[in-house]
Amino acid sequence: MSEYQYDLFVIGAGSGGVRACRIAASLGARVAVAEERYFGGTCVNVGCVPKKLYSYAAHYRDDIEDSAGYGWSLAADTAVRQFNWKILKDNKDKEINRLKGIYKSILDNNRVTVFEDRARLVDAHTVAVGGNTYTARYILLAVGGWPWIPDYPGSELAMDSNDVFEMEELPQSIVVVGGGYIAVEFASIFARLGTETTLVYRGEQLLRGFDSDVRQFIGTEIGKHMRLVLRDDVVELKRNNNGLKVILKSGSEIECSKLLSATGRRPLTADLGLENVNVALSDNGAIVVDDEFQTTEPGIYAVGDVIDRVALTPVALAEAQIVARKLFDNASKAMNYKNIPTAVFCHPNIATCGISEDEALAEGLEVDIYSARVKQLKHTLSGRDEFSFIKLVVDKATDRVLGAHLVAPDAGELMQGIAVAMNAGATKADFDSTIGIHPTLAEEFVTMREKRKSHE
Ligand code: NDP
Repeated sequence: MSEYQYDLFVIGAGSGGVRACRIAASLGARVAVAEERYFGGTCVNVGCVPKKLYSYAAHYRDDIEDSAGYGWSLAADTAVRQFNWKILKDNKDKEINRLKGIYKSILDNNRVTVFEDRARLVDAHTVAVGGNTYTARYILLAVGGWPWIPDYPGSELAMDSNDVFEMEELPQSIVVVGGGYIAVEFASIFARLGTETTLVYRGEQLLRGFDSDVRQFIGTEIGKHMRLVLRDDVVELKRNNNGLKVILKSGSEIECSKLLSATGRRPLTADLGLENVNVALSDNGAIVVDDEFQTTEPGIYAVGDVIDRVALTPVALAEAQIVARKLFDNASKAMNYKNIPTAVFCHPNIATCGISEDEALAEGLEVDIYSARVKQLKHTLSGRDEFSFIKLVVDKATDRVLGAHLVAPDAGELMQGIAVAMNAGATKADFDSTIGIHPTLAEEFVTMREKRKSHE
């Protein structure tokens, strides 16, 4: 008999937690998981999936408007006025419930013991849940993160991104605060669904960390659909008639129906019983782990948003897989954080893989820059005032493509293939010797011959 009741006890049944359960169980481990809120975690319930559904809803406006130049006669303004938020939300809720069920059945089918309750650590091998305690050889913390709103007078009146998915009505006007993924995505969604949208960001350009040309370009593109207020911030929020009054640092005031604070997410480590174990946290509250995702308490591991490395679902999945295989298959594989492709589902989408021009320079690399601003063929007849942007950062020494950046419809769909090429070490010469698909935007990736810049 083992000295422990379980081989692995996972806390949190989000993307990372469920993946770890499934792999560990398939390798013969006795696995339990505790989840107090919803199966599938942020991604399925209040993140990637419902956000993308809302983003599709918003894109229909463009499709309807664009169709007129192609002979379709549905009047764009009529279509927009007929948009029904309740239908969208109800259908979204149904789909999310279906997905939650799938996540639960993955656990059941793999004979994972499921506790639908809050779990707390009692010691390095004991978890308390549902009034009982259970022992495990290993514990995995996959508890994720939670939206964070700064504290200012009236900040309790602000919504966070979780609240957006519960909203019963489309607001007439909204102020979105922040300049990260969530702010830019939701501002785009609201603006295209017909809400009068203002995006307030304290910085010079949206999306800190992205390539500076992309940041500038997307500011221009999304600025066509919403009011963009840069270098300013909210200092107070008040009730005002049926809505809100937003007071900015600059002294300006904005009246709106709702305010969405998309000002970042924090690791969800509170009330987890961490005081009972030797798990160290970083300054921003994230759990500190080593290269194999072990915390400072041997036997306790952590993956996903709670370790605050790269807060993306596919990264959490990969991390969880590494932990499960290490613990139960004796497989040692380091996580590769290089060339992680990512997309921002704003309008138009942004997708990126590898490093930006600024990062290349900061690393002391000599790089050539290729870029193009393109009007898509589709918009010659649609008449839409929208451009796409494409950029490659190429290492002079090796000719390898170190960074690919794209602002375009469905940019994420396109970037996935580019990421495969980059992971395989593709050079600019490889890109150039690839035949393009004509007429597409994607062919620009293999036809950019002229250097925009050359950094020595
Ligand atoms: P981000 O960290 O990306 O952005 C937070 C934003 O809030 C930044 O613009 C930041 O400004 C601003 N901010 C922070 N504190 C304050 C403050 N006190 N006052 C005003 N503004 C403030 O967080 P998100 O919540 O947007 O997203 C979290 C993570 O989730 C992302 O980093 C990403 O990894 C993931 N995600 C991925 C998506 C995808 O793959 N499509 C979609 C959504 C989320 P500053 O830049 O000045 O610091």
